[in-house]
Amino acid sequence: MRSRQRMFAAVMRLLLKCLRLGRRRRFKLVWQVEQLWHYGHLCLRSLPPYNSFTNGDVVLDSLFEPVYWLVDHVTRWFGVVFVALVISLTSSIVAIVYICLLPLILQTYTPAWICWHLAYGHWNLIMIIFHYYMAITTSPGHPPQTKGDLTGVSVCRKCIAPKPARTHHCSICNRCVLKMDHHCRAAWLNNCVGHYNHRYFFSFCLFMTMGCIYCSISGWEMFRDAYAAIETYYQTPPPTFSFRQRAFHKSVVYLWVLCSSVALALGALTLWHAALITRGETSIERHINKKERQRLQKKGKVFRNPYNYGSWDNWKVFLGVDVPRHWVTRVLLPSPHLPHGTGLSWDLPPCVTKQRTPLLAI
Ligand SMILES: [Zn+2]
Ligand SMILES: [Zn+2]
Repeated sequence: MRSRQRMFAAVMRLLLKCLRLGRRRRFKLVWQVEQLWHYGHLCLRSLPPYNSFTNGDVVLDSLFEPVYWLVDHVTRWFGVVFVALVISLTSSIVAIVYICLLPLILQTYTPAWICWHLAYGHWNLIMIIFHYYMAITTSPGHPPQTKGDLTGVSVCRKCIAPKPARTHHCSICNRCVLKMDHHCRAAWLNNCVGHYNHRYFFSFCLFMTMGCIYCSISGWEMFRDAYAAIETYYQTPPPTFSFRQRAFHKSVVYLWVLCSSVALALGALTLWHAALITRGETSIERHINKKERQRLQKKGKVFRNPYNYGSWDNWKVFLGVDVPRHWVTRVLLPSPHLPHGTGLSWDLPPCVTKQRTPLLAI
């Protein structure tokens, strides 16, 4: 009898629990529908006929938002793939140099040449690795979200935050970047290049080009021999090359073709950036300054870039060279020193010899 009563009570409890759960779910559903209704209502009210602050640009931006999202997310993965590709290609070249070329250099070259190759090759490799690592891991620098001590700065329309001089909004990072040069998304870095990592980016390009030129020049003789040997592979009777010899020939040809192509392409990019640094401009400022120069020219005025301190001083400011010994410690050796200034205001750096007052601020 008692067990029946207990069973009846348990069934009743279960029934009540189910009822309560059902009520909770119903309430949750009603709450979700209500939230959706409010959200839809808010969206409708934000459209141009109801909202005087909205214009055609905002509507177009909103319509294209899914496309932007897709492009951003896909290209972000492209960046990661490219970084992995750069690391694996560079590693393959270094491996070929150590496995194939270095034993040959040690056997055939004079001690003086051996010392030169060992010293230069390793110095160049350390400089490439250091600057690449620093360029991809150092943040380019972002302005603060509140105005604080910043005076006379404009406001970014996308961040709705202060935008100091030389700062630009990066649509890929979706935030403002101090002294923005460009967003290196396709290859090499997968990072924005700005105030704090511009020097690392340029030094990486320079040392990579130097390394590729070094490999192309020192491997030229070997490339010619290996290429001539590969051409005989298909003769009859076929030559008696071992697997090791064939692998050696192909590796040397791969090394030379890759290094000389990178030397040409990256060399051109490095020269372009070197010309910009000489003029005291970033890639973005080049376009802005060009337009400004043409606009003022029409009015019979002369445009002067306020961040151009003269070619030599521009390089000193860019590389952070304050005293002569810095050419060795900060340029020829890996150095993690910070650039001049905070990137928020642009006072005359202390290493600039000629005192120039800016005529026109951008
Ligand atoms: Zn912004
Ligand atoms: Zn960016």
